Amino acid sequence: MHLLAIGGSDAGISAALRARELDPTVEVTVVVADAYPNFSICGIPYYLSGDVHPWQALAHRTIADLEATGMRLRLDTLATGIDVAGRRLTVRDAAGSESRIAYDELIVGTGAAASRAGIAGLDRLGPADGVHVLHSMGDAFALERDLDRRRPRTAVIVGAGYVGLEMAEALTARGIQVTQLQRGQEVLSTLDAELGALVHDELARHGVEVVTRTRVDAIERDGAALTVTGDRDGQPFSRTADLVLAVVGVRPNTALLEQAGAVLGAGGAVVVDEAMRTGLPHVHAAGDGVVTHHRLLGVTYLPLGTTAHKQGRVAGENAIGGDARFAGSLGTQVVKVFDLVAARTGLREHEAIAAGHSPATVAATVDDHKAYYPGAKPIELRITGDDDGALLGAQLVGAYGTETAKRVDTFATAIHAGMSIEQLSELDLSYTPPLGSPWDAVQVAAQAWSRCRPDRSGHPG
Ligand SMILES: Cc1cc2nc3c(=O)[nH]c(=O)nc-3n(C[C@H](O)[C@H](O)[C@H](O)COP(=O)(O)OP(=O)(O)OC[C@H]3O[C@@H](n4cnc5c(N)ncnc54)[C@H](O)[C@@H]3O)c2cc1C
Repeated sequence: MHLLAIGGSDAGISAALRARELDPTVEVTVVVADAYPNFSICGIPYYLSGDVHPWQALAHRTIADLEATGMRLRLDTLATGIDVAGRRLTVRDAAGSESRIAYDELIVGTGAAASRAGIAGLDRLGPADGVHVLHSMGDAFALERDLDRRRPRTAVIVGAGYVGLEMAEALTARGIQVTQLQRGQEVLSTLDAELGALVHDELARHGVEVVTRTRVDAIERDGAALTVTGDRDGQPFSRTADLVLAVVGVRPNTALLEQAGAVLGAGGAVVVDEAMRTGLPHVHAAGDGVVTHHRLLGVTYLPLGTTAHKQGRVAGENAIGGDARFAGSLGTQVVKVFDLVAARTGLREHEAIAAGHSPATVAATVDDHKAYYPGAKPIELRITGDDDGALLGAQLVGAYGTETAKRVDTFATAIHAGMSIEQLSELDLSYTPPLGSPWDAVQVAAQAWSRCRPDRSGHPG
């Protein structure tokens, strides 16, 4: 049995590792477009900030570690075509020569590419001009070289999602004056605007200029100066800087599977079932290139590293005859922005309404641990629950060190298990004064929700 995986990031490597773990007799080959298999691209901002070095430290596993599991790596090799009927993959190596690799089962983990969001100039201008996107180790090296070579003093970051925010911190750490442009009303639009405003304040506190409600239409270069232009509240907007970083999301990398006849679905990603089957015989797929099965929303597109790892593991197991299922995402995510941590899981109120619920969202501010023990800090929590008391979602913002990330995981666990908000309040959670309270912050917030929830007539109870 020859299992062939395309893609050397979270999905492709997870699949290959799982297959080798379950059956060491399976021959596994991984085809990777670049030379950086199993690198933590999530860590790129911390390499660029200088917190992590050298860059090799970002490898989850070294090439030697991977090969020690028995998998074969074909690096700097681009997959260019899938012959589904003949079960052969066409590849092109770094020297440009083409060859075919026969397989019994194929797993496609080609992930996503940085979106250009229709911004004029972003396709024409590149790292040599001081204009960057950020999705791969290659992008990180290009940005690092530019920072070293030109020593820019000012930067515009287009986008204030989690990668944009992490990069605002990274570039600020390198002494660069950052202007962050965000199309929406508030930064980190995955959270309610009231919580996004706290992140906005944190950026401002560290010297980042944040400009919201600003749509960027174009980037132009005039000598060394780069100018982004667009619209702010219906008025022309422009800003000039030494460097521009556009981090406006990703688009799924679907070309190979599309050409092979796969169907596209949510977010333009390849449709797969929970077993990671594409519908093409002997072809599984996982990661940022495929749709996401969401436990509360059904099929959507929610690309995250955590999800890519799980989907890859399922694909690896099933490709060698297993019967695993991806249990579904809740979109659980967390980001550190300077000294603040912002997290969410499940649904926000407008998402819950769109999904047919009758939700209420209640905010609470709760100390991370007993106030009498030094260093207690407030966590802002918002819980969204259904009119029958089911827990649907939670959002949290707290200082770094307040265990905000692990507290969102408590909510995620409860939602995954289908618990009510009442049941969340009954959980046996740990307590010692320096780290918590007899009722943990998540339980205090749950009780606040229960006190304030509207009764079934829609009036506050
Ligand atoms: C800066 C940054 C920070 C992030 N932080 C987080 C975080 O904190 N938490 C989180 O959950 N997620 C985070 N993410 C998202 C996470 O990294 C992605 O969801 C995850 O990497 C997706 O993995 P993947 O394997 O599906 O695809 P990708 O990482 O996109 O990798 C695709 C792989 O396929 C290869 N490939 C593509 N086309 C071909 C081809 N034709 N032939 C051969 N090989 C090919 C590529 O070389 C690469 O190895 C972050 C992303 C970025 C960019």
